[in-house]
Amino acid sequence: MAKFALWWIRWNEDLRTYESRMKVGGRKATVNDFQERGFDRVVVLDGEGRNSHCSGSLYSNGYNDGRELAEWILTRDIDMPLYITIPFYRPDGKQRDQTQASFSSVPDSYYRGWIDGVLSVDVNKMMGFYWSYESSLQTGPHGENVSKEFIQGLYSYVHGYGQELIWIPSTGGGTSDRGVSYLNDPNYDGILNIGGYFDYIFVQPNYYQYQKLDEKGNPGLPYTYEKLVEKIRWVHEELPRDINNPNTTISIEMEVDRTVLGIHCTYPSACPEGMNCDSNIYTCYEHCREHQSQKAINYALDYVRALNDAGWKPSDLAYYFSTDFKVIDILQEKCWRELNEPYV
Ligand SMILES: [Zn+2]
Ligand SMILES: [Zn+2]
Repeated sequence: MAKFALWWIRWNEDLRTYESRMKVGGRKATVNDFQERGFDRVVVLDGEGRNSHCSGSLYSNGYNDGRELAEWILTRDIDMPLYITIPFYRPDGKQRDQTQASFSSVPDSYYRGWIDGVLSVDVNKMMGFYWSYESSLQTGPHGENVSKEFIQGLYSYVHGYGQELIWIPSTGGGTSDRGVSYLNDPNYDGILNIGGYFDYIFVQPNYYQYQKLDEKGNPGLPYTYEKLVEKIRWVHEELPRDINNPNTTISIEMEVDRTVLGIHCTYPSACPEGMNCDSNIYTCYEHCREHQSQKAINYALDYVRALNDAGWKPSDLAYYFSTDFKVIDILQEKCWRELNEPYV
């Protein structure tokens, strides 16, 4: 049973170094904060790449940039099994390199350089890489910027080093999420095409974020609790059959953020970084579909309820909880109190 936590980092251009974004309220978090809360593994990431250093587009740039991050991670003394991101985007929002031809046909790849650079540093308990491009449309007709051959090649390359490849695909976009009728269609769901090239896939239900859900012929339905259960059932029962690789562990991402903290705020500039102020309720919110903290907590607990209603106890889970461990502490307490089980 492994619980994967996301460790958010970013490149500080002024200081020319990486920095951890993780906090416990007002103080900086340490590795102990992950362990004390029951997490077994960490995924070091910046998002989809926009917040990692990017020195250029060649293999050598990738090598140096990957090595730079790995050297910084080494100094953090993380004594936990960990995965390191492969940053998809540059800070300006363009891809770091092409993702259509595979490494074997185009050896001068930034991404290949990144992997080699990371692995040139002897990071303790390094388990593998995190493919940071979240879109589940990739490799399909609506995501042709990435090819199946590229992902297949990435998987082979990483495995050649004895490392794993993991992915946390999103299922939504714009103002709504996609339901099971889209997830069953390879034209709208690249997870079906490439899922077998990952050791772990944690599908994002995106119920915490989205009020609306699109089904084929029925756009803009309310994203109800029943729809969450349906999606989780699909991940548990249907997706493994479609992917058909016994070596791929398939699970979901648990989702919550700092909206649950209910931070009181009187004007927008007073919000913590990355949050916004809802001036009607004087509360800071992040990405939750509703802004009251009690509602946000309830949406997050719905994932635990839905797993129970789907009759599924996943052996592995990934947790998105933004950058503050107080979020986990609140959920842990509420989950014990309301559902008599741990959140993590
Ligand atoms: Zn199917
Ligand atoms: Zn605020």
